[in-house]
Amino acid sequence: MGTKALCWIRRDLRLHDHAALASAIQNHDQVYLAFIFDNDILDPLKKRAASDRRLQFIAESLVEIQGTLEKNHSGLLIRYGNPVIEIPALVKTLEIDTLYFNRDYTPYPQKRDHSVTEKVAAMGCKVQTFKDHVMVEPHEILTANKTPYQVFTPYSRAWRQALEKMQQPNIPITLKNLAPVPDSPAKSLSTLLAFAGFEAVAPIEASPSKGGTQAGQAQLHRFSSIIDTYDHGRNFPYLDQTSRLSVYIRHGCISIREMVSASLAATSPGHEKWLTELIWREFYQMIFFHYPEVHTEAFQSKFKGLQFPTNEDYLAKWKHGQTGFPLIDAAMRCLNETGWMHNRLRMIVASFLSKTLLVDWKRGERYFSWKLLDYELASNNGGWQWAVGIGCDAAPYFRIFNPTLQSEKYDPNGDFIKQYCPELKALSPKQIHNPAEAKGLPLAFRLGVDYPKPIVDYKSQRQKALALYKTYQMSTNVL
Ligand code: FAD
Repeated sequence: MGTKALCWIRRDLRLHDHAALASAIQNHDQVYLAFIFDNDILDPLKKRAASDRRLQFIAESLVEIQGTLEKNHSGLLIRYGNPVIEIPALVKTLEIDTLYFNRDYTPYPQKRDHSVTEKVAAMGCKVQTFKDHVMVEPHEILTANKTPYQVFTPYSRAWRQALEKMQQPNIPITLKNLAPVPDSPAKSLSTLLAFAGFEAVAPIEASPSKGGTQAGQAQLHRFSSIIDTYDHGRNFPYLDQTSRLSVYIRHGCISIREMVSASLAATSPGHEKWLTELIWREFYQMIFFHYPEVHTEAFQSKFKGLQFPTNEDYLAKWKHGQTGFPLIDAAMRCLNETGWMHNRLRMIVASFLSKTLLVDWKRGERYFSWKLLDYELASNNGGWQWAVGIGCDAAPYFRIFNPTLQSEKYDPNGDFIKQYCPELKALSPKQIHNPAEAKGLPLAFRLGVDYPKPIVDYKSQRQKALALYKTYQMSTNVL
């Protein structure tokens, strides 16, 4: 009898260019693939809503995988429960010799993987783990003093040098040696959603968010034809000029190696800038790995403990796109409707929440974590700390985005605003950025009735924010 492997897929929902799967197939006569719906994550979601877009994205990806496995006379093992119990149970029942998975770098998965490893090792099963989610793992590049980088530019330089040495091509996989799994709940989307205890969500037209490798690769193909102009076009939310690949990267429907290959396929400012953004992703993962305390506090010591007054009414209006600042409102409504938000808008709404409305950034970070399809703990935390001016290599605290100026610059005709705030459609490009101060508004438009008046005065809030940061910084300097 030959050897048996179990490949546990998690946030690497694909069957190609997959480090753990490639090795399992190469080294064993029978390979099983398993996915566990983690009840610690899903049970609280179920209490909030009957359906969930992120869960549906994952389910769609799993159904696609099942389809390919079926063609290869195999199938996907699916369980619902605690992975620390479910994986060892599979190892025992199937008499697995080696467990394979790709490494994760944030605290919860690390703790989980450690517990699973301990349990199966005690049962005599070997464990093999792989680098797959990143090109460069958090511990792989350090400064000359052997400490983690805290500034992006030198990190990015070291990252590029590491990449040159790697010459890591995509990992080819021939699907063979797959074990038969007759009755997988991933046979259809409805069966799988029912198995996980969720209802189906209607597709969102404005968002390319269908799960799976085919959809991800189609999106990458689309983006490859416009990547040349990414460096400029990426700034304008009304243009569809970014890759919209974040959700596919998040769930591993396409591999990071495919993305990096696409960025190296030609030399143009667009290709170059896009690679830089992929490096930001790994920079934040590296920061979170070495400084997990950023989960709850500022990276910069001088701002640890900084408290924002936090008006609950302002927070609610920010969440629902009812602040009276059109670009902010359009951005938040876009997030609520589609589960995605353009990077520039993420920066502006995050800055606005804490530096203009003086609301605790952690409340905004948490709201994003519920709403973003591409939610990634380290990138979200890094993005928030950057925008609020308290993070690693962040925007300085005194750089406060003026929502009207940002709107005039990055949505000059109000095209993006009109898409999500249709009540402002009749306003001219001059009026739309700040209706409260605009002259000659259309007679039919009633500010305060059709669209809210601004909930705060931007200029006075800016002064309050500057005073808050400055005073706090001085107080921590004294200590
Ligand atoms: P592109 O512009 O096409 O970029 C390509 C890829 O590079 C992205 O898909 C992403 O994987 C990575 N990337 C780009 N910019 C960044 C960045 N600043 N930081 C880290 N990675 C980046 N990104 C997430 O993936 N998940 C999050 O939860 C998340 N939260 C954010 C919160 C805030 C407050 C801010 C300011 C940024 C956040 N980002 C997050 C980063 C960025 O906004 C998104 O990755 C990007 O908008 C996704 O769209 P795209 O795929 O079209 O990006």
